[in-house]
Amino acid sequence: MKKTYDVVIIGAGIIGMASAYYLSQAGIDLAIIEKKYIGSGSTTRCIGGIRQQFSTPAAIRLMKENIEIFSQMEEEFGHTVEFYQGGYLFLAHTPEMKKIFEKNIAIQKKEKVNVSLLSPEEIKEIVPHINSNGLLAGAYCPDDGQAFPFAILRGYRQKIEKRGGDFYLANPVVSIRRNGNFSLTLGDGTMVEAAKVILSAGPWTGDIAAQLGLELPLFPERHEALITERIPKIIDAMIVDYRSDGCYFNQMVTGQIIGCYTPVPNVPGIREDASFDFLPRAAWRMSRLVPSLKKVAVLRHWAGCYTMTPDGNPLVDESEIEGLYIASGMSGHGFMFGPAIGKYLSHFVIEGEWLTDFSEFSLQREFAGRESMK
Ligand SMILES: Cc1cc2nc3c(=O)[nH]c(=O)nc-3n(C[C@H](O)[C@H](O)[C@H](O)COP(=O)(O)OP(=O)(O)OC[C@H]3O[C@@H](n4cnc5c(N)ncnc54)[C@H](O)[C@@H]3O)c2cc1C
Repeated sequence: MKKTYDVVIIGAGIIGMASAYYLSQAGIDLAIIEKKYIGSGSTTRCIGGIRQQFSTPAAIRLMKENIEIFSQMEEEFGHTVEFYQGGYLFLAHTPEMKKIFEKNIAIQKKEKVNVSLLSPEEIKEIVPHINSNGLLAGAYCPDDGQAFPFAILRGYRQKIEKRGGDFYLANPVVSIRRNGNFSLTLGDGTMVEAAKVILSAGPWTGDIAAQLGLELPLFPERHEALITERIPKIIDAMIVDYRSDGCYFNQMVTGQIIGCYTPVPNVPGIREDASFDFLPRAAWRMSRLVPSLKKVAVLRHWAGCYTMTPDGNPLVDESEIEGLYIASGMSGHGFMFGPAIGKYLSHFVIEGEWLTDFSEFSLQREFAGRESMK
C-alpha cells in the first residue's frame, strides 16, 4: 500500500536527521528515507569539529546558535554527545594568512565571538607540544570545540521515532516524480508520496535533483581522515594548519587524535575509497606540527565527501519546484551547521518564511564571494 506523508526527507545524515527532529517536534507526519544506514554518508566520517570562526555574519550567527544547541544535547537526549569546548586554533605561517585572520577576526568580534589573534608565544601556551617554526600568528576561539556525530544521530533517531516519524533504511530512493504530490519509488519497490520533500542526500543530492530536471551547483570531493590509539591529553583545541601541505586535527574527549588534510589538488567526485598515499602524508604533516605524535599508533583511516558549492556556503532553500527543498553543499562544516540548519529549515518548510536571514544560502545567490575559513 502506498503511504502518504506531509514531508519526506531523503538522506539520514546530520541535515536530514536534524530537520526531521524539528519537524517531528512540530507534529509533522514524516518519513526519512536512507539508502544505507543512518549517518553512512559524510556525517559519521567527519571529525566532529565545531567552530564559530567563519568569515560571514550569517555563518557566524548560525554557529553561535549551534554552540548553544550542542551544549544542550546531553540534557535533551539523556546521553553524552561528547560536546567539549577545547577551542579552535587556526595557524598562519604567511603574512597573507595572518591578514585574512585579522580581517575575519574583525567581523567575528562584531558578532561578539570570543576570538583573538595570538602570537607564537601565546600559541605555545595553548599547545605546549607545538613546533612553532615559521609560525607567525594564530586565530583562537576557546569556545569552539567538538562533539561525537554517532551520539547525536542516535539522540535524533530516538526522538524522531518516539514522535512517530517513519524510517526507511537500506532502501534508496530510485525514482522521484512530481505529479501533484511527489511520488517516490524505493529500492525494494515501496511507493511513498509526500506533499513536500527535503532533499538532503549530501553528495548524491545533485543526481536526485537531476531526475526532476534541476541542475544544482554541487561538486563533491574526497576527504580522508585518520584516528589514533588513545593517549593522555596533549591537545585541547582543534589545530588547523592552512599551509598547502598542512592538516587539521584534535584530540577527542576519549583520548584519540583524529585528523585530516585537504589534498591539493582536490580529488573530485563521490569517492569513499581511502588511499594509500594519505597515511604517510597525514602522519608526516601532523607530527611536523606536534612532534610528540610520532610515537602514536594510527588505528585506521577512511574517506568521505565534502559537497562543495562555488562559494563554499551551503544551499538551503526551496527550489523552483514548489515543495522541493534543497539542503546540501555543506563543504567541510555540515556537521557543525546541521542542528541549526535543521531548526530553521523545518520552520521554513512548515510556515513558508525564514525565522532568520538565510539569503547567504539561497539557491538564487550570486556565488560571488568565497568562505575563507574552509
Ligand atoms: C573526513 C571528513 C571530515 C570532516 N570533518 C568535519 C568537521 O570536523 N566538522 C564539520 O562540521 N563537518 C565536517 N565534515 C563535513 C561533514 O561531514 C558534512 O558536511 C556533513 O556530514 C554533511 O551532512 P549531510 O547530511 O548533508 O550529508 P550526508 O551525511 O552525506 O548524508 C546524506 C545521506 O543521504 C543518503 N542518500 C544518498 N542518496 C540517497 C538515495 N537515493 N536515497 C536515500 N538516501 C540517500 C546517504 O546514504 C547519506 O546517508 C567532514 C567531512 C569529511 C569527509
